[in-house]
Amino acid sequence: MPELPEVEVIRAGLAEHVVDRTLSDVEVLHPRAVRRYVPGPEDFRARLLGERVEAVRRRGKYLWLELDSGTAVLGHLGMSGQLRVQPAGTPDEKHLRVRMRFADGGDELRFVDQRTFGGLQVTDLRPTQGGQVPAEIVHIARDPVDPDFRAEDVVRALRARRSEVKRGLLDQSLVSGIGNIYADEALWRARLHGTCPTWRLTRKQGQVLFHAVAEVLDEALAAGGTSFDALYVNVNGRSGYFSRALAVYGRDGQPCERCAALIRREVFMNRSSYFCPTCQPRPRSSRRARGTPPHTARP
Ligand SMILES: [Zn+2]
Repeated sequence: MPELPEVEVIRAGLAEHVVDRTLSDVEVLHPRAVRRYVPGPEDFRARLLGERVEAVRRRGKYLWLELDSGTAVLGHLGMSGQLRVQPAGTPDEKHLRVRMRFADGGDELRFVDQRTFGGLQVTDLRPTQGGQVPAEIVHIARDPVDPDFRAEDVVRALRARRSEVKRGLLDQSLVSGIGNIYADEALWRARLHGTCPTWRLTRKQGQVLFHAVAEVLDEALAAGGTSFDALYVNVNGRSGYFSRALAVYGRDGQPCERCAALIRREVFMNRSSYFCPTCQPRPRSSRRARGTPPHTARP
């Protein structure tokens, strides 16, 4: 599953190749690739013909082409979906699902998806705070890489919750684009345990945490800045960042870079959480907080 850095690289690459071009033909080679578009493949094609691509946008891990009629093509990459730009006449990929041709006769945009968990759909744009977003993802909050992201607003919203810090970081309605790995790395940098109650977070701790989140994502973007061409070959969800630079994720039993205590792994929200038991002490009340209804957990 591609993470935010890969999706951003794809967005930038697509923007370079398809913006200001007009769609002249759309071929749906596998109906499953447009299954989320209820009116079906024929209608999908009809709605796109003659449309000009105005922009390629992203929110969290969602990507869409903004069209001049005010609609959009929303892409879900799923596990194996790829959006490729290929010179016209390039032999079809084995798992080519949708082909878009442009009026200028230049490079085609292709949606290739081996496992067909991903797909494309035509959708309407809805105004949200500071921008238009496909109707399906209006509930997805801005990500920390978004120029209009306001950390102080998110910190305020997080502190108003009766939850745990890591749960908040992974909640796409609060902040998007922070996967499990980034959450663990940012928590380690901010010296916070993931089960720290959100309502006990100080404003300062919140600032430190989101500064760490931004740092981790920026570094991942820089290190994972794989070229768009390389992504044609393989978008496998592992940027260069994942194999380098990780301080805690996947390092259980190894010494913490800061204090040499051994990194621990525990199960959290059905996934693994990694943390340093010394730098990120478990909050004393977290066991009680987990088992107590939110309204009574407030101190
Ligand atoms: Zn440590």
